[in-house]
Order: sequence, then structure tokens, then C-alpha cells
Amino acid sequence: MSDCVFCKIANKEIDADIIYEDQHLVVFKDLKPASPVHLLIIPKKHYPSLLELNGDDFEITGRINAAAVRIARDMGFVEKGFRLVCNCGSDGGQVVNHLHYHLLAGRELQWPPG
Ligand code: AMP
Ligand code: ZN
Repeated sequence: MSDCVFCKIANKEIDADIIYEDQHLVVFKDLKPASPVHLLIIPKKHYPSLLELNGDDFEITGRINAAAVRIARDMGFVEKGFRLVCNCGSDGGQVVNHLHYHLLAGRELQWPPG
């Protein structure tokens, strides 16, 4: 989508601190980190939110989970743990309408969220 900021990051039209990329997804640092490690994992393909996935599209959610575990191991926070979260819709706190998962780590996170 031409006016989508995360599509622009995936297409390298705007800068982001990309730490991993493959055929299906891109992982980059959140602009306003909420924890010492705060990454965003996005599919390269534009889906406005989880609600727009159908059938085989859901394969991307498995790839995102697998990427999160791999990154946790590679970055050394797998022992302490992390949170992988997808905000969906207005009550879910979704602001950017391109499917993304937050990968948060590096401090003890509170529950329930605000
Ligand atoms: P959400 O509330 O789940 O839609 O979260 C969107 C996230 O995207 C927020 O944590 C923002 O800080 C982050 N964000 C927005 N624009 C950018 C950008 N250009 N580069 C990196 N992170 C961004
Ligand atoms: Zn997009």
C-alpha cells in the first residue's frame, strides 16, 4: 500500500533499523521503545490487521512466532523471557494499520497492560 509506513519500511522507501529480513518478513527497532528491546515484526505483504488474514495467510503468524524465538536466542534474552504481542483494532491499541507484532524484552514487563 503506497501510503503505509510499514510497507515503505519493507520496500526501503524510508529508513528503519532493520535487524532481520527474509522473503516473508522484516524485523526492525521500534521508533519509541517501551523496553530495552522493542522490535516490530511485520509481514512484507500488506494486511491491515490480523482480521484480514484468511486460510493460508495465517502461515505468516507461524513465521513471525518462529522469528521471535530465533531472535530471542540470537540476542540472548531467551532465558529471561520476552513478550510477543499483536495489537488489533482500536480497543487493542492498534495505531499502524499494517499487521505487526511487538517483541518486547530486557525488563520485567507488567501484567495486565494498561
Ligand atoms: P501499534 O500501536 O501496535 O499500532 O504500534 C505501532 C508501533 O509502531 C508503535 O510502537 C510506534 O512507535 C511504531 N512506529 C511507528 N512508526 C514507526 C517507524 N517509522 N519506525 C519504527 N517504528 C515505528
Ligand atoms: Zn502496509
